[in-house]
Amino acid sequence: MQLDNGNGFIGILSAELQSNILEEMPLPDLITFAKTRRQNQDGIAYYMAMRRTKLFMRFVDDTNALIELLDRTGTVISGSSALSLVQPKRRAIVVRDLDVYTTEKFEDEVLKHFVEKERYEKKLEVPRKTEYESTAITKIYKLQNGQKQVDVIVSDWSCTLAPILEFHSTAVMNYITARSIVCLYPRWTAANKSMINPRLYLQNKTHMRTVYVLMKYRKRGFDLSADALYFGDHLCEGEKNTGGKDGYCPHVIRSTVDDEVISWNFGPTKMLGNTTITCQDMPIMVWCLGGQECVEGDKEITLSFALVSA
Ligand SMILES: [Zn+2]
Repeated sequence: MQLDNGNGFIGILSAELQSNILEEMPLPDLITFAKTRRQNQDGIAYYMAMRRTKLFMRFVDDTNALIELLDRTGTVISGSSALSLVQPKRRAIVVRDLDVYTTEKFEDEVLKHFVEKERYEKKLEVPRKTEYESTAITKIYKLQNGQKQVDVIVSDWSCTLAPILEFHSTAVMNYITARSIVCLYPRWTAANKSMINPRLYLQNKTHMRTVYVLMKYRKRGFDLSADALYFGDHLCEGEKNTGGKDGYCPHVIRSTVDDEVISWNFGPTKMLGNTTITCQDMPIMVWCLGGQECVEGDKEITLSFALVSA
């Protein structure tokens, strides 16, 4: 890759040095950098496309067919794979499996894709509320092809994003669609800060597996806390009438399309001959992390929730 005429004289650096710089940048910084100049936009588009392709190639032979599947069915990829694309490449976590989130409507189509086209074998079908605690999950299929592992997570909600909003902590609230990579808490995630979802302890969702998963993220270098203020000040929900807005107050009602969300768009999906591949419009979801009051005397506990709004 070479950013000719890139911003801030990056263009005069060798391709190797340019790569070194990009590989140290998390997604929010790459997005900001891409906006500075047309040449930077092109260079980063290429860089992000390559990272996505390399990630997908670890699990599938046909990366375009996977992207088309995501587009056709509104399926998304989340978990460590999505997180790894938000993190700087140099410091990204090691991805061991691919977590594919779909709805009951497209469950058969997604499974068929992995089993018939990518030669995965169905190893296990986990019904809801046993291994995983999420209420938005109906079942999980564990698929294997040699060393490669794919989990297909099926939700009975109309939106594939529902389970992602119920995740254990904010570091994993990211997802890859057919056209984009989306991060719901970019400021924290880019700084390796992860707030534990209050839902876990307020609604008795904690069990050993959750504790184990949280420890795993701590080992991976994340600073975890149940207290948003531990990560620095934010404008509290009650102070919103002062004119500011802060999606980092856990009592604020967030939406998957609000200003705090960042996304990188990979550009249009390739068409297959005359087959028009239509993008499913992803329903918009709103959620509130909730939890204990931020400031003493501020308010009572807010309950966590997530719902499909449109
Ligand atoms: Zn607050």
